[in-house]
Amino acid sequence: MTAQYHVQGEIAVITLNNPPVNGLGLSTRRAITDGMAQALADAVVKAVVITGAGKAFSGGADIKEFGSPQAMQEPNLHSVIAVLEASSKPVIAAIHTVVMGGGLELALGCHYRIAAPGTSVALPEVKLGLLPGAGGTQRLPRALGVEPALNMIVSGEPIKAELLASVPGHKLFDALSASADTLAEEALQFAHSVADVRPLPLVRDLRCKHPQGDAYFQFAGNMVKGMGKNFPAPAVCVDAVEAATTKKFADGMALERDLFARLMETAESRSLRHLFLAERAASKIADIPADTPLRAIASVAVIGAGTMGGGIAMNFLNAGIPVTMLEMKQEALDRGVATIRKNYEAQVAKKKLKPAVYDQRMALLSTTLRYDDLAAADMVIEAVFEDLGVKETVFKELDRVMKPGAILASNTSTLDVNTIASFTQRPSDVVGLHFFSPANVMKLLEVVRGEKTAKDVMATVMALAKKIKKTAVVSGVCDGFIGNRMIEQYGRQGGFLLDEGCTPAQVDKAMEKFGMAMGPFRMGDLAGNDIGWAIRKRRYFEQPHMKYSKTADLLCEQGRFGQKTGAGWYDYVPGKRDAIPNADVVAMIEAHRKTLGITPRKISDEEIVQRLVFSLVNEAAHILVEGIAAKAGDIDIVYLYGYGFPAHRGGPMNYADEVGLFNVVQAMHRFAQNPLDDAQFWQPAPLLARLAAEGRTFN
Ligand code: NAD
Repeated sequence: MTAQYHVQGEIAVITLNNPPVNGLGLSTRRAITDGMAQALADAVVKAVVITGAGKAFSGGADIKEFGSPQAMQEPNLHSVIAVLEASSKPVIAAIHTVVMGGGLELALGCHYRIAAPGTSVALPEVKLGLLPGAGGTQRLPRALGVEPALNMIVSGEPIKAELLASVPGHKLFDALSASADTLAEEALQFAHSVADVRPLPLVRDLRCKHPQGDAYFQFAGNMVKGMGKNFPAPAVCVDAVEAATTKKFADGMALERDLFARLMETAESRSLRHLFLAERAASKIADIPADTPLRAIASVAVIGAGTMGGGIAMNFLNAGIPVTMLEMKQEALDRGVATIRKNYEAQVAKKKLKPAVYDQRMALLSTTLRYDDLAAADMVIEAVFEDLGVKETVFKELDRVMKPGAILASNTSTLDVNTIASFTQRPSDVVGLHFFSPANVMKLLEVVRGEKTAKDVMATVMALAKKIKKTAVVSGVCDGFIGNRMIEQYGRQGGFLLDEGCTPAQVDKAMEKFGMAMGPFRMGDLAGNDIGWAIRKRRYFEQPHMKYSKTADLLCEQGRFGQKTGAGWYDYVPGKRDAIPNADVVAMIEAHRKTLGITPRKISDEEIVQRLVFSLVNEAAHILVEGIAAKAGDIDIVYLYGYGFPAHRGGPMNYADEVGLFNVVQAMHRFAQNPLDDAQFWQPAPLLARLAAEGRTFN
C-alpha cells in the first residue's frame, strides 16, 4: 500500500507512503480516496489529517508514471482534490520537509494546512515547460496572494514555509508547528479544534484580486518573455494566474486545463521532460544492482595540481572530503594551491561563500611531494600530463603505495583506460573519471568503465558523483569517450563550413541562435585550439584518409590558441571573455579558400545548424551500437551538461527525434552530395538508417 489509514481517537489519519517522496501515483491516489470514504463512513471520525511518511509530505507527480496513461487514470489528481473539497468532515494537511507540485495542489484542496518550519514549498512544473495543472494556478494566488504566487509559479523555485507564512494576509497555512517533530501531535490537536467548525473553508472560495491587475500582468508578461525566450511556459503561467483574478473559479480551472494540455504538446516541454527522465536514468547501470555495497570514500588524493587537478580537488573540498594533492615540484604545488585560493576568494568577494566556510574548505587541503603520504587515501584521481609514459610512471607508483581496495582513477581525456589499468596489479580498481574544464564548475562527469573495472567501483563512483554534485554518465573505452568523440565530427564540419564560405562569427551566431551556449569557434578559443591541433596531427598520421579542413592548423601555426593567448578565431581583451572578430583571420580563411580554388557560396543558418548537429547525431548512432553509450538519453545529458546544448532542444538525439529521423537521413544524403564535405562520413550509421526506415526514434 502506498498510503496507510488509521484512526486515532476521533481523527482519521491518512499517511502517504510511496518512497522516496510520496509521489502521487495511481495507487497512492486510490489510497487517499479509499481513506476518505472510510473516514466519511465512520461515525466516530470527526476530522481527517493527511500527511506523508518519511522525507516528504509529497513531491508531486510520481515520475514512474510520467506521461503514461496511468497519470490521468481515475482517480486523477483533480478527482482526488474534488473528493477532499466535497468532504463533509474537515480535512487537514499536515505538511513537512517537501511539498511540491501536485503535493502542494493536494494540500490546497484541503480545508486547512499546518506546516512544519523548514518545509520546502514549490510549484516546479515550469521547469518541465508546464504549468501546475491541478488547480495550482487558481488556488495558490487565492491562498498566498497574487504576486508571491505568480513568482513561485513562474520561477518554480522552492521557498521555505516560514517565509511564506510571513506574507501578510495569506491563507496558505493556518498554523506552523513548533518543529517537525511536533507536527503530527499538533496536527491532531488542530483537527480537534476545528472538528465542529462549519461552514468548511475552501481555498477556491477566497477572493483573488490585484489592485493594479492590468498593469501588473502586463509587466509580468514582459518580464518573463525576456527571461524565458526559448520557453513558452513562463508566459503561459502568467496568463493562467491572471485568469485567477479575472474569471470565476470554474472558468479559471477550465483555462488552466486547456493551457496545460497545450504546453504538454510543445517540443520544449517534451524536451525538458525527456532530459529530466534521462538524467535520472543516467545514474543507473543496467548490470549493476542498486543495492551493490559501496566502498567508503572518506579521503581523496589528486595527482597533478594543474588546470584540472585544482578544479577536481575543489569538488571534494566543497563536499567536506579531505584532499591531498601531489606534484613533482613544490612550485607546482604552490601554484595549484594559489589558484584554488583565488577561485574561493572570488566567491567570497561575490558573497557566494562565507569566509568561515572558505577557511574550513582550505583546512581540508594538504599537499605533498611523496607518494608514500597517499597510503591512507580511499581514492586517488590522476590529472597529470596527457602522456601515456607519464601515466605509466604515476600508476605504477600508485599501485605500490595505495592501500588495498582504494579506487585508482584517471582524468585522461583521450588515452585508453584499459592500458592505464594494465600498469597496475589491480585493474579492477581502475576507472576513468573524465571531468570537464573548469572542473569545479562543469556539471558533467564521464565515468569511463574499463574492461576490468569492478562493479562496486562503478557503483561507488556513481554515488560519489552525486555527492560532489556532478551528473555522471557512463562511457565505454574509446578515443574521446562519448562527448569528445562526437565533438570531433562537429569541429570537422565547422572547418568545412569555413572553407565553403562562412566566417567563424557566422557559424557561431547560427549555433547560438539555435541555442548553444557558444558556437564552435568561440568554444575552440575557450578550450584552446592547440588541443584540437594535437588531435588532428595524430589523425593525419593514424588515419591519413580522413578529410580535414586545414584552416584551423593555419590559425594554430600563428600561435592563435584562443583565450589563453589573447587571440584565436577572435581577439580577446585581457580579463574579458568577449570575442572580437579579427579581419586578418577572415582574410586568412579567404586566402586559404582561394588556394583551394573554392568559390565561396552563401550558406544558410539552417544548413549550418543541421550539418553541425547531425554530425553529432551520426557519430552518436555509431557510439550507441558499439555500446560506448548505453542509451540515447545518456548522450543528450553529456551534451546538455558538458557542451552547452540547449535544454529546450533536449540534447542532440532528442532534437533528431523531434526533427524526425527520416528527415535527418534525407539531410545526410544531401550533405553527402557536397564535394567539399566528407561523403563517407555522411553515410547514415546503420542504427540511424534502420530507425528512420522503421519510423522509430532514438529515445
Ligand atoms: P596541466 O598541464 O594543467 O597540469 C598537469 C599537472 O600535472 C602539472 O601541474 C604537472 O606539474 C603535473 N605533473 C606532470 N607529471 C607529473 C607526475 N609524474 N607526478 C605528479 N604531477 C605531475 O594539464 P591539465 O589540463 O590539468 O590536464 C591534466 C589531465 O586532465 C590530462 O590527462 C588531460 O588530458 C585531462 N583533461 C584535461 C582537460 C582540459 O580541458 N584541460 C579536460 C579534461 C581532462
